[in-house]
Amino acid sequence: MFDQIDMSTSVTREVTLKTSVSCEGIGLHCGEKVKMNLLPAPAGTGIIFRRVDLLTCNSLDAQAASLSQVSIAVSPAAVTSTQLGTTLVNGYGIEISTVEHLMAAFAGYGVDNVIVEVDNAELPIMDGSSEPFLKLIDKAGLRELNSPRLALRIKEKISVQDGDRWTYALPHADETETAQEIDVLVDYVDPAIGKQRASLHVSPSEFRDRVAPARTFCYLSDVEAMRNRGLALGGSYDNAIVVNNGRIENEGGLRLDNEFALHKALDLLGDLYLLGHPIQGKITAFKPGHDMNTRLAKAVLDNPDKVELVSIHDADAAIEKVLA
Ligand SMILES: [Zn+2]
Repeated sequence: MFDQIDMSTSVTREVTLKTSVSCEGIGLHCGEKVKMNLLPAPAGTGIIFRRVDLLTCNSLDAQAASLSQVSIAVSPAAVTSTQLGTTLVNGYGIEISTVEHLMAAFAGYGVDNVIVEVDNAELPIMDGSSEPFLKLIDKAGLRELNSPRLALRIKEKISVQDGDRWTYALPHADETETAQEIDVLVDYVDPAIGKQRASLHVSPSEFRDRVAPARTFCYLSDVEAMRNRGLALGGSYDNAIVVNNGRIENEGGLRLDNEFALHKALDLLGDLYLLGHPIQGKITAFKPGHDMNTRLAKAVLDNPDKVELVSIHDADAAIEKVLA
């Protein structure tokens, strides 16, 4: 699948899918069947979600108008809710929820341009991780486009804080370093989770092998409360780790030793990819969540003097010059 793309390092040109692919699953909160199609898109498109369930018009003009009305372009500015997942909204009030695990798959594999058609208000939860989405992208294959890939290079520290929780975007001390590093620390009272750390250098192979299988999680005690509020209707042991007073309730236990911290790293990566570019710098987070992740993404957008948009190709060329 990756015949032309080096999986161990960042690619220097924008990437889309080779072909369209589809999958079906359950919406975590609505509990309904959701169909999703991923379509290739030209350079400069970015990631666009399209609520095809809301397309009702027949005439061509009306269809073009309603296509833009049901399309939601990813941006930190489009975030409207971070409760139990990341929800985006467009200028017409059309929403799409639980985008983060697919966004993490795009970020992890370095996919820039995709139209995501979906026939419900939320994405399918699949198994609660990014792995099924990576397999779908593998099935489609990747294609490099003739346009340089840009990254957001952190020049000065950008931070967000909420009580004892914090998230920082820090510049690399070494100016030849171009990786996106993520370092996440979680601290839960329940001893089944406790203190856990996940540190990674984002690359397609690192993401696929270490991060993508990490599933979302919840407390058994919260499940009933969520159901009473009409949430998590599609939740089951098949799409979340369920923690109950120091025990993992799922048959088979955990997939990875630090699966909880790794899933928080996965969410952080997906939420930051709302910026539309990979980050060059180090992201450090203590007790992260979608609220903090998307606040950091907004802070990056709001501090243009502390970041610069660099061509990944130029950065690599500059490094080769320094090393020569
Ligand atoms: Zn998640």
